[in-house]
Amino acid sequence: MKFTPEKPALTGETLASLTEQLRAHGEPAFRARQILDWLYKKRARAWDQMTNLPKPLRTWLAETFDLLPASLVLNKQSEDVTDKLLLELGDRSLIETVIIRAPQEGVGVDHSRKTICISTQVGCAMGCVFCASGLAGLKRDLTAGEIVAQLLHVCYREDERTPRARAELASFDNIVVMGMGEPLANYDNLIRALTIVNAEWGLGFGARRITLSTSGLVPKILRLADEPLGFRLAVSLHGATDEVREKIMPVNKAFPLGKLVPAVKAFSEKHGRMVTLEFILIEDVNDSLTQAGALRDIARDLHAHVNLIPYNTVAGLPWKRPSLTRQEKFADVLRAARVSVTLRREKGHDIDAACGQLRLRTEQERAAAVAG
Ligand code: SAH
Ligand code: SF4
Repeated sequence: MKFTPEKPALTGETLASLTEQLRAHGEPAFRARQILDWLYKKRARAWDQMTNLPKPLRTWLAETFDLLPASLVLNKQSEDVTDKLLLELGDRSLIETVIIRAPQEGVGVDHSRKTICISTQVGCAMGCVFCASGLAGLKRDLTAGEIVAQLLHVCYREDERTPRARAELASFDNIVVMGMGEPLANYDNLIRALTIVNAEWGLGFGARRITLSTSGLVPKILRLADEPLGFRLAVSLHGATDEVREKIMPVNKAFPLGKLVPAVKAFSEKHGRMVTLEFILIEDVNDSLTQAGALRDIARDLHAHVNLIPYNTVAGLPWKRPSLTRQEKFADVLRAARVSVTLRREKGHDIDAACGQLRLRTEQERAAAVAG
């Protein structure tokens, strides 16, 4: 689904594309770096702040580009760890970007991490039955500029928290592409955005600290394996047999485990880094010890890390997380086989932590306001 904004976003331009447009307008090439430097390093939020640019150039830039295609409408901070930014786009669509600041406690290991979670689409077409993001289907893909803008908003938020020092995006440990949407269904825009995020003239964030999470689009996984920037991969498995997986993830019909697992293997062999298998634990759906055994076998075959995530309840959906005992028993099957596994402990539950829920609620409130 293509969306063409009135004006292209500056945050969607690469150094090359901006240089070319400036050249066509009769400007010297060095202006492109100056402009991107204002945007990403000095954090200018208005054209008039770019004081070393001639006034006529600033006027032309303002007429030609949207400086930032997203504005902050709500910042919800949870007591524990998460900071959720609800952003509004040019067409009033809402997306969310989450900052997770607390230590992520694994089993036996304690990592202190700062992670950013970004969205790639408004809604999602994949239709996983447990997920809030997919409830209303896909509205549209995000543009590259809208994806990059989420990270600039994170920078602004950090700058506010540390007023004296401008926070570098590189001070974060990871960016995970696990917000709303199926990243690999918006492949070209996403790769363009991540190229800008990675570039030294952009946000300067290492590709190896960026994880893409997919519900399992096999041809795109194979394509991703050939990208020059080595992003990490996480696969949302959530079912360790076709029988269980296809009940909750329609994508499994097109790409069953017999296709998905070899594609993930090909990716991980090319990439040389461990892939993560995400497995949400949903009571009486996929939490049996038989599923644990099947998951163990897949993880061993792939030399993959397994991330067990207790299901986060979504209003209006019937699914529940299993009891702690049951979660532990499930994890024990993997641990016993020395599979690398983390059982995620819930963070930010109090502020609608599951993907898509903050946006869903705001959309519902808006609809109610219009109806009333
Ligand atoms: N579309 C991609 C990335 C976004 S979803 C994907 O599916 O991988 C990010 C992760 O959140 C996925 O593993 C997804 O299955 C999981 N998720 C979705 N709804 C959830 C819920 N209610 N509780 C816990 N995890 C959920
Ligand atoms: Fe889309 Fe991922 Fe949600 Fe499935 S889990 S509906 S792929 S966002």
